[in-house]
Amino acid sequence: MTAGTSAGTSAGTSAGTTAAGFPAELADRYRAEGLWGTRTLAEEFHAVARAHPDRDAVVAAQGRLTYAELDERTDRVAVGLAGLGLRPGDPVIVQVTNRLETVVAWYALLKAGLVPVATLAAHRGHEIAHISRAVGARAHLVEAGTRGTDLVAFAHEQAVDHPTLRHVLVLGDLPTGDVDADEARRRVEEIQHGIDPDDVAVFQLSGGTTGVPKLIPRPHAEYWYNARAYAEVLGWTADDRVGHLIPVIHNAGVVCGVHGPHTVGACLVLTDHDLDTAMPLLVAERATSVLFGHVHYRAPEHPLYDELAATLRVVVLSGAKVSEELFAAAGQGGAWVGQLFGMAEGMFLVTPRGSSADLRRTTVGVPISPLDEARILAPGTEEEVADGEVGELCCRGPYTLRGYHGLDRPEAFTADGAYRTGDLAAVRLLDGYRAISVEGRIKDLINRGGEKINAEEVELLLLAHPHVVEAALVAMPDPRLGERGCAYVATDGTPVTLADLQAHLTALDVAKFKWPERVELREALPRTKVGKLDKVAMTADIAARLSGEDT
Ligand code: AMP
Repeated sequence: MTAGTSAGTSAGTSAGTTAAGFPAELADRYRAEGLWGTRTLAEEFHAVARAHPDRDAVVAAQGRLTYAELDERTDRVAVGLAGLGLRPGDPVIVQVTNRLETVVAWYALLKAGLVPVATLAAHRGHEIAHISRAVGARAHLVEAGTRGTDLVAFAHEQAVDHPTLRHVLVLGDLPTGDVDADEARRRVEEIQHGIDPDDVAVFQLSGGTTGVPKLIPRPHAEYWYNARAYAEVLGWTADDRVGHLIPVIHNAGVVCGVHGPHTVGACLVLTDHDLDTAMPLLVAERATSVLFGHVHYRAPEHPLYDELAATLRVVVLSGAKVSEELFAAAGQGGAWVGQLFGMAEGMFLVTPRGSSADLRRTTVGVPISPLDEARILAPGTEEEVADGEVGELCCRGPYTLRGYHGLDRPEAFTADGAYRTGDLAAVRLLDGYRAISVEGRIKDLINRGGEKINAEEVELLLLAHPHVVEAALVAMPDPRLGERGCAYVATDGTPVTLADLQAHLTALDVAKFKWPERVELREALPRTKVGKLDKVAMTADIAARLSGEDT
């Protein structure tokens, strides 16, 4: 697919495919089988809000909103956004943290027909400048008062000389239309009528492996279905109160935290990532379900976990292998404990509700949709490996991307359109399921507590340093974050320190989480027989050094 530049309209549709590149006959099938709906995300939310007006839709440290309140408020803000001159299909960079107003802004953008572009509060000029130009962003939504960087000033700087960026929007200070609730609803409906449910609703960012960030188009019907299917496999109902601690404007946040609970009228309990502030809120709000990413695998050791465990029904772990101790500790109090393997590109695997503790601890389960296909192929081929053997996980189905925005990347897909995830996996036959276990990855990235660092991107930046002649970024093990970046560097003879490299990346305005956290200087970097950088050797070297330093 090469998507059109207009994100929210069907302008990118080519004969026989939807705007996001799904073959039209498959879109028809997904709809005929009741998977994809016919509404936009905003109208799906409105329908649920009408069905559950008095239930809490979202609770956060800043307050709470019922469905009726959230629905009405977001109608008004949508009218305010339209009043600024923003038009349906206009992409909006979203760079905010986990706050009540974030959820208000999310639905208001969608109701105004705008297309949120999910970025991280930690992103800086290097990332935002590229992303906002790649989508032709018209507005940049930021938050005032974040720790460290002044994101409002940053957004204004980004707009200078930008070809399309015209508005800086600030969370909590969004315009509201000067109209009553009925009129606001009427205007939102008018906007939504003009949007096709197969148009691109949201852009998510790929954890991807090339030197530039890749954007994933997520259409309305497809994206809501992803969330509905997830809520269904976990058995959520309107009585659930779903805790979410990791960045909410990430794919996992939007699907598991915002849309997922909202597909069934449940409540999102939105916290920040710090367990000491998250746990009291989760306990006070009697959370019934929670997703813990790898950075929160220590949550069951928290002094308040006993109290939380008394209300938890479902605990989902995601991001790294689950030890027996963690599995048992997470389930104290009787909660069902399972795993999620997900990606911004689409495919979600979840351990089925009725499956054994063995399956739920040792595998990430099965795809969440009956029309999902997960195949394990010998890397770089179209050949399936035998059950039990390790190969590359390749996926196709009703909510997995068919192409990146504006990029032709045939190597990322099989001939029949399955996405090559770059993750290594194996099929395990357990409890009558073809459950999938994660066995590593072939893509060259570092998973730092759930944030993906693209090695090639950082290496190219390091090579721009005047004294660096060779650079390789490899993962070094970290007990809390899982992995951190270690740079192996050869120079022109002038030694460089970690501080030098960090100053260089600061000057290039690169997000801090991507910075190497250790440097290993070498006269020349190790290479394989065919002359490629030997990252296997460097990864083993740093792991050995770290374990030697520990003893
Ligand atoms: P993202 O698109 O940022 O959500 O990252 C998706 C990637 O995160 C996957 O392709 C995997 O490499 C990794 N990932 C997601 N879930 C898990 C999991 N449960 N275990 C190990 N790795 C995971």
